[in-house]
Amino acid sequence: MSVVCASHARHPFLLLLLRRLPRVGSPGPSPAMRRSYSLDASAPLLRTRAYVDGRWVSAASAFPVLDPATGQEIARVSDCGPAEAKRAVDAAYRASPSWKRATAKERSVLLRKWFDLLTRHKEDLAKLVTFESGKPMKESESEIAYAASFLEWFSEEARRVYGDVVPSPLRDRKIFLLKQPVGVASIITPWNFPSAMITRKVGAALAAGCTVVVKPAEDTPLSALALAELAEQAGIPAGVFNVVPCSREKTPAVGQVLCTDPLVAKISFTGSTATGKVLLKMAADTVKKASMELGGHAPFIVFDSADVDRAVSGAMASKFRNSGQACVCSNRFLVQSGIYERFVDKLGRAMDAELRLGHGADPGTTQGPLINQRAADKVLQQVSDAVSRGATVLRGGKRLHGSFVEPTLLVDVTTDMLCTKEETFGPLLPVIRFSTEEEALTVANDSNVGLAGYVYSQDVSQMWRVSELLEVGIVGVNEGLLSTPEAAFGGVKESGLGSEGSRYGIDEYLELKYMCLGNLQP
Ligand code: ADP
Repeated sequence: MSVVCASHARHPFLLLLLRRLPRVGSPGPSPAMRRSYSLDASAPLLRTRAYVDGRWVSAASAFPVLDPATGQEIARVSDCGPAEAKRAVDAAYRASPSWKRATAKERSVLLRKWFDLLTRHKEDLAKLVTFESGKPMKESESEIAYAASFLEWFSEEARRVYGDVVPSPLRDRKIFLLKQPVGVASIITPWNFPSAMITRKVGAALAAGCTVVVKPAEDTPLSALALAELAEQAGIPAGVFNVVPCSREKTPAVGQVLCTDPLVAKISFTGSTATGKVLLKMAADTVKKASMELGGHAPFIVFDSADVDRAVSGAMASKFRNSGQACVCSNRFLVQSGIYERFVDKLGRAMDAELRLGHGADPGTTQGPLINQRAADKVLQQVSDAVSRGATVLRGGKRLHGSFVEPTLLVDVTTDMLCTKEETFGPLLPVIRFSTEEEALTVANDSNVGLAGYVYSQDVSQMWRVSELLEVGIVGVNEGLLSTPEAAFGGVKESGLGSEGSRYGIDEYLELKYMCLGNLQP
């Protein structure tokens, strides 16, 4: 993920009105429809205090949550510091023995109730996601369905935590391998999927019998607090699920508590590789278990044999979902010479036809703003670097308002350009031409991270060969959107440690205990 700043520059001209922004490729903002959007202060599920030990608690100060599309303040949220974080850790620790002792079925039933509540309140939850992250409503609704699906999945998996009975080498001994919850888990999450990145971790943790303290991203605490409200309604016991929101300024001190307190057994983080390394170092002193979902730099490889229309629709989905702000987003498009012109031509047309910028609450919007100005600056810097090194802008390339950046198509891209070396985390689609499979693999694997990769081909041998050789943890073959709770999500190299979702996700919150029953009468 990109590095995101603490300060959110406001866009005063956007406070008055937000224009319906233009189609990609059109020359300037359309004067057509003008309408402003705001989040109702009485929105259901809007909570602004921290949730610790089953209580809503205020901190000494509050920090603003801004709508990234307008710069308007939509709420002020309790700004927790190390004292509140410590209280939350203590509460989780106190709640741990009884949550651990609850039967798997009891935990499963509560997770299922929580899932049902998310499903029932999906529109209200989606609205919070849109207003705090900028995402179009349709995508926010998908995110809530996705977030809920982890609670459903892990409510089911909770009952399938089997240990082993192992054949013993000695007649008078029996060997058992038990799976037990690790204890208190600190969960630190990003802003790009403010709801799903929490449930993907917390569903597994609670199912395993762990209790948690969640520190949501400073940009998007409202979704986390809404989840707490619904957890309470579902009957999740006090102290099992705690949320300590805080500003970017307080984040290092809160992070310090969450990653170093001896009562915490495990940290689970999704965010940038740079921050992940900081947290891992802090957790090392007390040898905590760690799960890390870090940055990606996904190659999207289109071979000559590909179905070009499928490749184009896969590219659109994989690149422009959430305006390119996902760690599995395609970051580099490698297209073989024989199909290059057709692919680029059709892709440009699809961008013209399908992408509309605007406020996420506008039903016509497919592309919201980037999370803040710094995110927009990074995209524009990559565009100008590429152009200075010989790339051509076929679509977009400009900032419109505030952190709105035009979806951008760059061709004649080469591997010396910034956009092929670092994660963009924005709507920039750079296309590199290649000749041979070997060349594509060399470029694709030339990275210190490896999260997702995409392959478009109709040659079955090639699909297998390339999928096996790609140095990533997730491969989409002729498919641009892959995430689902049934599958394992995780990266290789510096993209992280461990897997989330799937039947393996719960293992991240379990420890194996070897129990030997000895001196039996043979
Ligand atoms: P991004 O740059 O995309 O915001 P980050 O990795 O910086 O990605 O942020 C992801 C999450 O990590 C956020 O919740 C953020 O507040 C948190 N974070 C960043 N630095 C620290 C830190 N030192 N300790 C704890 N959490 C941190």
